[in-house]
Amino acid sequence: MTSLPDSLPRIGLGTDRHRLVPDRACWLGGVLFGDCPVGPDGHSDGDAVLHALTDALLGAAGLEDLGTLFPDTDPTWQGVASESFLQAAIERLAAIGLHCWSVDLVVQCDQPKIAPQRDNIRRHLADLLALPVDRVNLKGKTREGVDAEIKAVDVTAVVLIGPTV
Ligand code: MG
Repeated sequence: MTSLPDSLPRIGLGTDRHRLVPDRACWLGGVLFGDCPVGPDGHSDGDAVLHALTDALLGAAGLEDLGTLFPDTDPTWQGVASESFLQAAIERLAAIGLHCWSVDLVVQCDQPKIAPQRDNIRRHLADLLALPVDRVNLKGKTREGVDAEIKAVDVTAVVLIGPTV
């Protein structure tokens, strides 16, 4: 088979991991966890939720991945808000007639607790993706104390994309 109809949906998977370190602003899903004593280390703001989501979108569309498009060796991206990566991915999809129609996310970390900000993140991501909030889901899970010496946040994102309507 050489091609499939453009109308068929495509899925994408993205993952990301960042160390959590003291004295870093804790941005996850574009929402600031203001009272968290640790935050994701990284070249950008370290927002692992946005990184995983962006990679899932790019992967679903068959485009180059986040690290290739926005390398952490490029000073252009130093300290940048990761929403700019997501916006760039959305624009690249739109340019080839594709839109994200559903998102599911799993965030694993012992700090911060995700539940208090879960609905804020869902609303924020839904706004960025031009989706109803019921098409953006997010679950927070602990790391069960594993690797207690090294604090980290792990994110898995799955998306469904298809033609713009
Ligand atoms: Mg990352």
